[in-house]
Amino acid sequence: MAADRAVKRKRKGSGSTGQGGGEVFLRQRTDPRSERRFEPKASLELGLTMLGMSVAALLAGAGVYGMWFRGEEAGAHPYAPYLLVAAVLLGAAAGLFGQWSMKPLRVGDAGVGIENGPGEIERIGWHDVTRLLLTETALTVQGSGTAIAIPLRTHLPAASRVLAEARVRVPARAADIQEGALPLPDDAAGEVRALEPPQVAGLRCKATDKLIAFEADARLCGRCGEVYHKDGVPSRCATCTAPLG
Ligand SMILES: [Zn+2]
Repeated sequence: MAADRAVKRKRKGSGSTGQGGGEVFLRQRTDPRSERRFEPKASLELGLTMLGMSVAALLAGAGVYGMWFRGEEAGAHPYAPYLLVAAVLLGAAAGLFGQWSMKPLRVGDAGVGIENGPGEIERIGWHDVTRLLLTETALTVQGSGTAIAIPLRTHLPAASRVLAEARVRVPARAADIQEGALPLPDDAAGEVRALEPPQVAGLRCKATDKLIAFEADARLCGRCGEVYHKDGVPSRCATCTAPLG
């Protein structure tokens, strides 16, 4: 088949996203793909979260005792309501920021992913990224109807890699962010893992809207991950303009 012969099988290191030259980015569904897994820089933040939770529990206990359990004559202790409020605030802060910054992240051929639980990874494919937003505290990857916030304090290596890969894969989505805003990614950071072939049956071709009924009919853009039917592959990716042959 002509379409099959046009596929150039080039093994990509996960670090290089391939640019320049005459590279063709058309991929089969089963071509090797990989990503990097980043653990958060846990030590201090994790410790503080645990400490905050414990102190909140202590305060809550003391507050409840002072408020309602001091016996008839003594009545509620005047500080008890403040203890309760402090407990609630501290508990909320620890829960919010602690949880938020403790999740491992994935960055690679399948886009950006966040591990919400064991075996449960929420991903935004590069072709679904609508915008990257950098603030002083976080790099946020926005998709349609979803977003992944990457806190710089605990996930700087992952944020650097996301920005660097986005600049190559979907440059228009990161155009708002200044050059050099984040350090360049460190090739030693993150554990490289192979990715399973994507589930694409039931999706529609980006170029022709044709239903992809069989996994074998799917072709992928190796740069942004956009999905095409093998009969409708355009010469350039409709999403990232990578040459598809
Ligand atoms: Zn593409």
